[in-house]
Amino acid sequence: MHIFAIANQKGGVGKTTTAVNLAAALAMSGQRTLLVDLDPQGNATMGSGVEKRDLKASVYQVLLQMATLESARKRSPQGNYDVLPANRDLAGAEVELVDLDLREMRLKGALTQHKDDYDFVLIDCPPSLSMLTLNGLCAAHGVIIPMQCEYYALEGLSDLVNTIKKVHANLNRDLKIIGLLRVMFDPRNTLSNQVSDQLVQHFGDKVFKTLVPRNVRLAEAPSYGVPGVLFDKAAKGAQAYMTFAAELIERVNSWKEAA
Ligand code: ADP
Ligand code: MG
Repeated sequence: MHIFAIANQKGGVGKTTTAVNLAAALAMSGQRTLLVDLDPQGNATMGSGVEKRDLKASVYQVLLQMATLESARKRSPQGNYDVLPANRDLAGAEVELVDLDLREMRLKGALTQHKDDYDFVLIDCPPSLSMLTLNGLCAAHGVIIPMQCEYYALEGLSDLVNTIKKVHANLNRDLKIIGLLRVMFDPRNTLSNQVSDQLVQHFGDKVFKTLVPRNVRLAEAPSYGVPGVLFDKAAKGAQAYMTFAAELIERVNSWKEAA
């Protein structure tokens, strides 16, 4: 089981879009996949076609050990993957976890019990470097960082990289950066190309080859509760996420060969 956190402390950079579409694309490739929604906004939940308002249990109860993962997980009706859903309840977890033992290891604990159920677990992190994101980073083997190639993209990236280094040093020796994914990319924009080149200079092979273009069909899909890769399979954005899933699977397989 490969557990990847999709993280970037900035909001609106494409984390949830990447989490939902990658989950659906992996499922389409035959991978048993779980998507964990760690954002109280519940966008990954809704985008997967799971209604966040009528949940008996959510990731919140799982983190507080008031419910099991089995009882809280739902199936994405069209996506063919499982979702550990979230809603506004989760906003309280931040405070409630503070005084608890092993507060940053709660998600890891829940996932460890299900390590034979899935090939991939994707964790959609909230736009902060909070206790929730920390739970995501402690549970994960790697981080996928979606990046919008604009002027301020590199600003803040060092905070995330430093947080990942600290978690690696103190809490989770398995954690590494799997890669940076360029999203909402506009190839006609000179600045996008410059920022993209800078990313490759800094991070080399860590930058995924796949470029996800700006594509309105990806933005429309969530309001139908259907992942973009299924909503309009022919759209450029959908195809990019399919290519990205294949690239990720290839990367994972190359570690197995190296081991
Ligand atoms: P985050 O989870 O980082 O806050 P989202 O995935 O919710 O970011 O994306 C922010 C907004 O941008 C959403 O409205 C989403 O539909 C839109 N969006 C994300 N990726 C794309 C894309 N490749 N093309 C067009 N719109 C996109
Ligand atoms: Mg989000």
